[in-house]
Amino acid sequence: MINAAVVGACGRMGSLIIENITCSPEMQLVAAFDIGNVGKDAGEFAHVGNLGIQISDVKDLETVLQKTEADVLIDFTVAGATVVNAPIAAGCGVNLIIGTTGLTQEQRTVIDGAIQKNRVSAVIAPNFSVGVNVFFKIVREAAKYLADYDIEIIEAHHNQKKDAPSGTALRAADVISEALGGKEYVYGREGIAPRGKEIGIHAVRGGDITGDHTVLFVGNSERIEVRHMAHSRQIFAKGAVRAAEWVCGQNPGIYNMDDVLGL
Ligand code: NAD
Repeated sequence: MINAAVVGACGRMGSLIIENITCSPEMQLVAAFDIGNVGKDAGEFAHVGNLGIQISDVKDLETVLQKTEADVLIDFTVAGATVVNAPIAAGCGVNLIIGTTGLTQEQRTVIDGAIQKNRVSAVIAPNFSVGVNVFFKIVREAAKYLADYDIEIIEAHHNQKKDAPSGTALRAADVISEALGGKEYVYGREGIAPRGKEIGIHAVRGGDITGDHTVLFVGNSERIEVRHMAHSRQIFAKGAVRAAEWVCGQNPGIYNMDDVLGL
C-alpha cells in the first residue's frame, strides 16, 4: 500500500485528488495539509465522509510526513508554496507529484535541485490529463509538417485562475518550439506591428471554464485547429493519482507525463 499525502487539500484540485485516492486499491491517504481549515477532516472537502485524517498546518509538513511514513506528496497549491514544500518533502525522502503551475525558472531550479540531492522521484507536469498529453504529441507531429504556418495558441480558464498564460499553453508552445528548433513567443498583441515568425499565446479568463486549449496552424487559404477541452477537473486528479502510483516504483529522477503514460 502506498502512503499518500496531499498539500492544498482543501482546494479544487487537492480535494478531488483525495476523493480519487479513496477509490484507489493501491493507495491510502495518510496526511493532508493546507494553510486553513486545520483540524477539520480531509473527507469533508472531498465530499467522501469522514476519513479520520485531519487537515494539518503546512508549517508541520516535515514532522507529519515523517510521523505518517508518507511515500509520496501530491502538491497542487501555488508556486510560492511548492518551492518551499517540495524541498522539505524531498529532504524527508518523500517522492513528489507536482501539479502547481506558474513556477518560475528559479523556482524550478530550487525544486529540481532538492529532488536530485535527496535522490527521490518526482513527476512534474503542467497538465496531468491523459488527453492533454496526447494533444501535446499530436501538436508536436503537426508542427513538424507545418513549420511555415502561423502558429497561435489560445487558452481559456475560469476567472479564479491565478497564473496566465496557463502552464499547459506554455508547454504546448515549448513542444512546438522544440519541434521547430526554437521560436520566439508573443503574449497577446496590441498596437501596430506586423506578425513575425513567433508563436502567439493568448489567455482568456471567465466564469467556470475548466480549461480549453487550441493550437491553430494557419496557412494561406486553410487552417488546422488542434483542440482539447476539459469537461471536468477529474481528468487532472485521476492522472495525478495514476502518476503517484507510478512514481513510487521508479529510480530517483524527474519525470513527466510522457514517462508515466509511455508516450
Ligand atoms: P485552489 O485555489 O482551489 O487550491 C489551492 C489550495 O492550496 C488552497 O486550498 C489553498 O489554501 C492552498 N494553499 C495556498 N498556499 C498554500 C501553502 N503555502 N501551503 C499549503 N497550501 C496552500 O487552486 P486549484 O484550482 O486547486 O489549483 C491549484 C494549482 O494546481 C494551480 O497552480 C493550478 O494552475 C494547478 N493545476 C494544475 C493542473 C495539472 O494538471 N497540473 C490541473 C489543474 C490545476
